[in-house]
Amino acid sequence: MASARIVDLLSQGQPGQTVVVRGWIRTARQLKEFTFVEVNDGSCLKGIQVVLGQELADYEMLAKQLDTGAAIAVEGQLVASPAKGQRVELQAASVEIVGGADPEQYPLQKKRHSFEFLRTIAHLRPRTNSLGAVMRVRNAAATAIHDFFQERGFLWVHTPIITASDCEGAGELFTVTNLDLDKLGQSQQAPDFEQDFFGKRAYLTVSGQLEAEIMALAFSNVYTFGPTFRAENSNTSRHLAEFWMVEPEMAFCDLGGDMDLAEAFLKFVFQRVSDRCSEDLEFFNQRIDSEVLNRAETILNNDFERVSYTDAIALLEKADRSFDYPVAWGIDLQSEHERYLAEEYFRKPLIVYDYPREIKAFYMRLNDDQKTVAAMDVLAPGIGEIIGGSQREERLDVLKQRLAEANLPEENYWWYLDLRRYGSVPHAGFGLGFERLVQFITGMGNIRDVIPFPRTPQNAEF
Ligand code: ATP
Ligand code: MG
Ligand code: MG
Ligand code: MG
Repeated sequence: MASARIVDLLSQGQPGQTVVVRGWIRTARQLKEFTFVEVNDGSCLKGIQVVLGQELADYEMLAKQLDTGAAIAVEGQLVASPAKGQRVELQAASVEIVGGADPEQYPLQKKRHSFEFLRTIAHLRPRTNSLGAVMRVRNAAATAIHDFFQERGFLWVHTPIITASDCEGAGELFTVTNLDLDKLGQSQQAPDFEQDFFGKRAYLTVSGQLEAEIMALAFSNVYTFGPTFRAENSNTSRHLAEFWMVEPEMAFCDLGGDMDLAEAFLKFVFQRVSDRCSEDLEFFNQRIDSEVLNRAETILNNDFERVSYTDAIALLEKADRSFDYPVAWGIDLQSEHERYLAEEYFRKPLIVYDYPREIKAFYMRLNDDQKTVAAMDVLAPGIGEIIGGSQREERLDVLKQRLAEANLPEENYWWYLDLRRYGSVPHAGFGLGFERLVQFITGMGNIRDVIPFPRTPQNAEF
């Protein structure tokens, strides 16, 4: 008999129904006449209560193996549950311990482990409530992202992971190298990391944007959703070396249209996740951050504030508190500045636009004032920058000049410049860090705890 998903049984299962449940034991409570076991298959926060009575064959032997973490298969009948908070429970008719978990070795969950500790235990972390809820929220958010763009006619394009360009010009690149271990062993020589993609230089992508632009100038509205890599050798709570990025790109679109899309997008995804994962969001609300649901309301019920960079600097200069990093026109906003604006001043998400040209990437469209570019960042309470976007420079001469200023050789960007030679149009897009979004939705403090396999300077093992 195929096993039923526990979440479905708990919401729709009918007393009298015969079912099979397969999962892992969360807790076991032995009373005199019978034993209660909570079994979870990862489909929901709280598992199903299974009742093992003494009439079961091998009851005594089974009772000794009902250890937390053990894998179990139960066939039985659903019965109405007398316990509070659950409609049905499962009266076991036959039980199999599929894989035991030595209680001497298993890190028991009775006491709550720190997120840091959990990151070191591969088998336990995904079975905790917090990572379980995170994974279900990730799933709902990722699906919502596709729905949002698909409903609006955007084409999902798959941009390469191996590229030759440093899109952001920030120098946070991992190099790709075709290590031939046999040869390496013989020659004892260090590989030439600079030119080792079959004789050329190649990196792991820091953004799919430039390639997405190629596609937008043929398919009008496109988006990417894939892994991104940055050699961030820092230990912040919002940077990973590998993260997922969502990057829409729209032809015939200016910065205003880009901001409208970003706001509609965040509201849509938030609404969908709230609808699909209400139990998980409630869990975060209680356990992690009491502000989470209010943040949901904040994002859904308000128009985002829109403030120019110049006005934002003025607000920061007037702030009745000091910052570690001094405020002056021309600085890149730091997390403390972003959070002040979102959390203390406006108390809702805001979009800062028209940044100084010196601090932004070469591809952003130069404004008429010659001092600023048509860039925008969405700043969210609790996180700071969650989206970075811009209108792209569509004028060939200006783009060439910007490349030169950034010390980027034109030869490497011939294909990008060609887009401005043949049918160039105003176009715009943005990049959203998927993990920052999940952090924002869940209220989790550290970005490492909202991704199944965090990649940081300390961790690439599992
Ligand atoms: P930050 O200022 O926080 O370093 P950024 O300005 O370098 O971000 P962008 O190049 O604008 O980032 O990338 C677009 C989006 O990707 C950001 O708004 C953010 O949501 C996300 N992002 C950037 N770097 C990381 C990272 N190392 N880990 C996770 N998400 C990231
Ligand atoms: Mg950065
Ligand atoms: Mg930034
Ligand atoms: Mg940015």
